[in-house]
Amino acid sequence: GREEYTPLYRTDDFGGFHARNIFRRWQDCFCNPIDSAATNMVSLMERRFENKLSSRFTLTGESHSYINLGSYNYLGFGGLGPCADQAETATLRYGVGSAAARQEIGTQRLHVQLETLVAEFLGTEDAITFGMGFATNSTNIPSLVGPDCLVISDKMNHASIILGMRLSGAKIRVFAHNDMADLERQLITALTEERRWRKVMIVVEGVYSMEGSIVLLPDVIRLKKKYGAYLYLDEAHSIGAVGATGRGVVEYYGCDPTDVDIMMGTFTKSFGAAGGYIGGSRALVDHLRAHSHSAAYALAMPPCVVQQVIASMEIILGRDGTDLGRRKIDTLARNSHYFRQRLRQMGFIVYGNDDSPVVPLMSFFVSKTAALYRRLKEHGVATAVIAYPATKLTEARARFCLSASHTRQQLDYVLSVVDKVGDELELKYSQQRPPPA
Ligand code: PMP
Repeated sequence: GREEYTPLYRTDDFGGFHARNIFRRWQDCFCNPIDSAATNMVSLMERRFENKLSSRFTLTGESHSYINLGSYNYLGFGGLGPCADQAETATLRYGVGSAAARQEIGTQRLHVQLETLVAEFLGTEDAITFGMGFATNSTNIPSLVGPDCLVISDKMNHASIILGMRLSGAKIRVFAHNDMADLERQLITALTEERRWRKVMIVVEGVYSMEGSIVLLPDVIRLKKKYGAYLYLDEAHSIGAVGATGRGVVEYYGCDPTDVDIMMGTFTKSFGAAGGYIGGSRALVDHLRAHSHSAAYALAMPPCVVQQVIASMEIILGRDGTDLGRRKIDTLARNSHYFRQRLRQMGFIVYGNDDSPVVPLMSFFVSKTAALYRRLKEHGVATAVIAYPATKLTEARARFCLSASHTRQQLDYVLSVVDKVGDELELKYSQQRPPPA
């Protein structure tokens, strides 16, 4: 008889969202169906941008521009400027591709220069770089832990970490977001249960990209030492953006970098480039050079991208002979504080730490979130809106990413628009009008 094939995609599949399931759950919640959210997400995916990495951008085919609060460009190095100029020079000298994996003949002088600089920046013995931030997590966690190991992971950890943990075959347990009591409970269980784990590794992020929260690093370090666990820290959103000189959450709390066993981060946010790194002891980095799937089988970082990272890191370090890096870090901190405080004063529910450049404004309902996105866009403001499965079903939000390249004038304009639209959509809360539970 005729063979029945499972169709490759279903019409109710929606980019990782299973629309039918969500629809049922929305019905359970007595809320509007997801039509408007789905339409909105499709339009988000199909949008084409020009000059996306400046504080204003235009959409292809449109003449007017939008103020950009959606890009991860914390220090403003992502746009054109001295770093991109150096990347251009490197392209003319070395070409675009790197044409080999690191373990083949992929290592160029620039890679060694960057890795020395990254180790110095982090305060670690050594560092290794990878062509992609996502793969830095998903391919390196499996070279650190295996089936007889336990990973204890913050509930809000990024998809690349979750993939890496799953690929490793280690047992995964999740602790409530930034909840140190829950983390300690899980560490005690790991030590006292009958099964003996070969390694126990705690995995956290510096700044959580959906919550805007900052990891409670001193407590995590205290617990990892008390219970003899390893610590893996993903600084994708904190490196360059947090700490008086941009060295991330370790500097923010005044911790010792050698207390973090695996210092992971990306070059995609504060450095305006692409790729990722892991810093740590020489033994750790040597192990990864030999055993990482990315080092063995994936293209090394392209030289022009390496040059962009070197240039931006040197500016942050003040090696360009100016105080530009310091000023950018200060401006980002000022912008983040100002924007968050003003939103709170207006009556919005804003998640996250005051010192975080990620500012989630809670709209709770997907339907309101879609409307918020559209209304902001009509007023020339572009930002990301986020809903299930990246957040809880009832915790949809707009997520503003602040940048050192935003001017006070731009922020004031955006705030006035959010104020107005927030009134229209009834997104402000008070004691008399508490947020949905
Ligand atoms: N880790 C975290 C915490 C992230 O938020 C991201 C992506 N935003 C990544 C890793 C993956 O990095 P990339 O986008 O550089 O591939």
